Amino acid sequence: MAGVLPSLIGLDARELSAVATELGERAMRGRQLAVHLYRHAAQDLASMSDLPAAFRVRLAEGYQVSPLQVAKHATSLDGVDKLLVHNGDQQVFECVLLPYADRVSCCLSTQVGCPMGCTFCATGLGGFDRNLSAGEIVGQYLMLQSLTPRPISHVVFMGMGEPLLNLPNLLKAIRLLHDEVGISHRRITVSTVGLVPQIRELATHKLPIHLALSLHSPVDEVRSRLMPVNQKWPVKEVMRAMRDYHNTTGRKITIEYLLIHEVNDTPEQAALLAELVKGVPCVVNLIPFNWVDTGHGFSRPSRDRVRNFRRELEKRGTNATERVERGHDIAAACGQLAGQHTGRFSRRNALRVVESPA
Ligand code: SAH
Ligand code: SF4
Repeated sequence: MAGVLPSLIGLDARELSAVATELGERAMRGRQLAVHLYRHAAQDLASMSDLPAAFRVRLAEGYQVSPLQVAKHATSLDGVDKLLVHNGDQQVFECVLLPYADRVSCCLSTQVGCPMGCTFCATGLGGFDRNLSAGEIVGQYLMLQSLTPRPISHVVFMGMGEPLLNLPNLLKAIRLLHDEVGISHRRITVSTVGLVPQIRELATHKLPIHLALSLHSPVDEVRSRLMPVNQKWPVKEVMRAMRDYHNTTGRKITIEYLLIHEVNDTPEQAALLAELVKGVPCVVNLIPFNWVDTGHGFSRPSRDRVRNFRRELEKRGTNATERVERGHDIAAACGQLAGQHTGRFSRRNALRVVESPA
């Protein structure tokens, strides 16, 4: 069964050189392998024709190329590709390719499920299974890259899971994306629910990556209702950590703000939000709630309410953008990941359903 052999994706050029020398080849073969795997997004050894055939045979005996298998591939009417993948263990997670006129971006998962329990999020309500390895994280990027001739230039960690709960593997994946694939740190965005110690730890690495905080309300009572993490790390503390992150890395921060009808989309909260971020170089990204039945009766605000909220921010000098939503017809939006394939909260059964004959 695939998934039993260790995968090559996830190893850096130095580690691949060690594999090559172990198999009786020169170390430079490992570097060549790294170019195929990461620069060319090769998904099999057969295409690596400049590597000796005997080396490829020995590699195939001990390793698989990618840790991932595709369970489902969906393409939306507006050109978004979504892959549902797993490593052979029945635990599915998703990644999404987002082509734009001027760039190609992708959205990657860092965990199977998520333990943070945000009350608006399909992933959170499906519970937590496990952390993804660095190879499984970068493997998503490479699978998506193999679908398009255009280079994927931007990576956002906004798929399933809380990236900062899987920091060592996230950091290794970022290192592979930077060193081996060649993506600039500035084009990598990590989105967090707001774990203060991990934000501070990430800052110590001094990587110029972009950090986005899912704030969703400037009011502790409201934020706690939406995000249990707020009971531990309330608004002021998490904002302080974000401000310090900016001071350490020099990167402008993003505040993500999910808008839920009459919960956190009021003019009063817009005013409090503007006050909260005053003096912090940031942009507020407004995301209208993607409807999922989480049992809390949340609904999506009208376009008018979204526009009003934005106007309230802008008239106080706060930069705000609205997320351009894509891939609606294949449920590619954030928070609507693998759980939705089989209905409510049934991610664990998703693979079985996907694989059963239609
Ligand atoms: N765990 C991280 C990153 C993954 S979630 C985080 O929470 O930031 C990525 C984004 O999708 C977050 O801003 C999250 O709040 C948002 N999201 C979750 N469920 C959503 C939904 N139903 N509609 C719109 N956005 C949602
Ligand atoms: Fe986890 Fe992010 Fe969903 Fe919250 S919004 S449950 S942190 S994936």
